Amino acid sequence: MYTLTNGKGMTVKITNYGGIVTSIVVPDSAGNPGDVVLGFDSLSGYLQQGVPYFGALVGRYGNRIAKGSFKLDGKEYKLATNNGPNHLHGGIKGFDKVVWQAEEVNNGQEPGLKLTYQSKDGEEGYPGNLSVTVVYTLTQNSELKIDYTATTDKATPVNLTNHSYFNLAAGKAENALQHQITINADRYTVVDASLIPTGELRPVKGTPFDFTSTHSIGERIGQVEGGYDHNFVLSAAQGSSAPVVRVSEPTSGRVMEVYTDQPGVQFYSGNFLDGSLTGKGGKKYVKHYGFCLETQHFPDSPNQPKFPSTILKPGETYHTVTTYKFSVNGGSQQ
Ligand code: BGC
Repeated sequence: MYTLTNGKGMTVKITNYGGIVTSIVVPDSAGNPGDVVLGFDSLSGYLQQGVPYFGALVGRYGNRIAKGSFKLDGKEYKLATNNGPNHLHGGIKGFDKVVWQAEEVNNGQEPGLKLTYQSKDGEEGYPGNLSVTVVYTLTQNSELKIDYTATTDKATPVNLTNHSYFNLAAGKAENALQHQITINADRYTVVDASLIPTGELRPVKGTPFDFTSTHSIGERIGQVEGGYDHNFVLSAAQGSSAPVVRVSEPTSGRVMEVYTDQPGVQFYSGNFLDGSLTGKGGKKYVKHYGFCLETQHFPDSPNQPKFPSTILKPGETYHTVTTYKFSVNGGSQQ
């Protein structure tokens, strides 16, 4: 377990098991610290069957690949299926369940943790030896920055993300439905009953998926079968400096902004949490207790020729950066 602190009231804890962010403590608008992510007090919690990727690094492919199969350069690949007929979040033993090599990064006032993992050719069915490096940095602006790189020796799909579940009320609310959220996305990927994209990118306008202006998570969730579990197609041009998502929690005043260079974000409203997991401090993680904002390429891209490509080739470097920035309403916490 590694602890990053920035001297501005923010502390982040990360373990080399699954690269899991186990805790993010940030002050509320009155300066009271609170832990805003879901997780467990000890490693054994994370080793339980069916823990839904709390805080973890997800790979080789975040979200679903239909029927665990895809064709690449004329060859058909069969991946482990671990979600009904489909492959989810890298398979049975994804990057969330392996031990990463960890190295402290000394950036003066901006401490970091560098995690590396060598994924073997054939692991979970994927082609190629993939070398993955993820650097977590805690900045002086109260940002958790996640920098991902990967290289391969055979063409392979790659789509890395972090699966933190947030609740900015830090244990002081029944669930996360009161969070106010804005997503800079004018379309989303429509999915079938097994949550595989149909290929259609549908405008959010006039639907409960329209978060281009601010709404609470709960306001229209009843109109979305099963709750939100959708990939939003981000409108901002790559490299834009504006946040793609902004979330604020009214009672604590905490705010989180998400910045990314990725084309999509999976907004998941914790629909499958059912109270059976007891997390930090004895909290029961009931339905919608936390939400995820997983920056990513679109689900099932290897089978969707019209989606941006997720294939990494030998000689290329996969590189992406996502930042979660924390502050409070009505000012910065610095
Ligand atoms: C998926 C959900 C899944 C959750 C936990 C999300 O990224 O979209 O369908 O239940 O992760 O595994």
